[in-house]
Amino acid sequence: MANTTTKVTFWGVRGSTPTPDRGTWRYGGNTACVEVVTGDGTRFILDCGTGMRLLGNRWEEEAGHRAIEAHILVTHYHWDHIQGIPFFHPFFQQQNRFHFYSFESKYLGPNSLRKVLEAQLASPYFPVDLSMLTAGREFREVGGGEQFEINGTRVTTRWLNHPQGCLGYRLDTPGGSVVYATDNEPGVPEFDENLRQLAAGADVLICDAQCSPEQLATTRKGWGHSSWLECVKLARQVKASNLFLFHHDPDSNDKTVDGFLFAARQEFAGTWAAMEGMNIQLNEKGVDVTMRESRVGPRRRLRFAATVAGIGEDGKAFEEKAVVRDITLYGAYLSLSNRPALQSELNLVIEANAADNHPSLLSLRGTVVYSEAAPEKYKTGIGVLFVEDEERGRTRD
Ligand SMILES: [Zn+2]
Ligand SMILES: [Zn+2]
Repeated sequence: MANTTTKVTFWGVRGSTPTPDRGTWRYGGNTACVEVVTGDGTRFILDCGTGMRLLGNRWEEEAGHRAIEAHILVTHYHWDHIQGIPFFHPFFQQQNRFHFYSFESKYLGPNSLRKVLEAQLASPYFPVDLSMLTAGREFREVGGGEQFEINGTRVTTRWLNHPQGCLGYRLDTPGGSVVYATDNEPGVPEFDENLRQLAAGADVLICDAQCSPEQLATTRKGWGHSSWLECVKLARQVKASNLFLFHHDPDSNDKTVDGFLFAARQEFAGTWAAMEGMNIQLNEKGVDVTMRESRVGPRRRLRFAATVAGIGEDGKAFEEKAVVRDITLYGAYLSLSNRPALQSELNLVIEANAADNHPSLLSLRGTVVYSEAAPEKYKTGIGVLFVEDEERGRTRD
């Protein structure tokens, strides 16, 4: 039977500029880049932010000497959506082939994206020139309101409300629908209607949630972005099944994004905050989200008894004694009888013996990034990333 599962992976979720700082580590600092692969292996890339470098490395690793072909849909020409292009290694291999889709900018004229590429690789901005970009390239200029088909996936475009223009894309794949609507400010009826049409009944709705609702109403008005609250309203209106808050502000640290996610989930249960390494699988059975690829540090294996409290997939609070199996400065892996919801908060209290033989408690707070069948029967293996919190995480007598 033909494989009809579509896979979506987030390689960059940040808006405006990359943020390698510690405070944004958990959600990730690379700018917009999303990979979509359909069941027959057709590859799509949504935007070319700095996350694209890691995607290129992964594809080269998987392909070996085999050729790579992909369809690259670019929403607009702001830095955070094109900056990964010169660092995507598959562009520098002759056997590869890429089909680019983007709009003709009134500032750049015909062949806009081709001009962007030439400008990015021009001296003195980059050490090698366009002649080194040996992969086959085809450019197609599209506008809002178009529809075309690529290997059984129907692509629909709509104009969004953003300075210098931006396209939203919808991919109706054999596994389900993925809508990519980033860099959009609500409030202009024509564009709001475009967005509703694009997002109608989406299985996966990826939405600009850069600002807080307060910022959107005041200091960030007119910047061309949206808030979690507007995303939630849209998701409800168009009856989307899963909403992914995307294009996190460079000045939003992980705690701020946690706050947006928490608030949005109260209003729309199927909300997620896009995170680097997050994977989505879509098929006739529905949408499954995992974060198996989340960044982890070097692990230290151990067996620590801990008391764990969290929220289960059924929405109910639980507490149980559990075993921590490995730990890093950033996270831990443990086995639980309960199955906590992904991106929910988990409290972990580890009993440790201090040097003076006084028992002490290490209290840590984390967010659940993946769950899987554990080595023990009837248990779930849980990965957590610790949440920065100076008040917690310290030992006490
Ligand atoms: Zn952007
Ligand atoms: Zn933009």
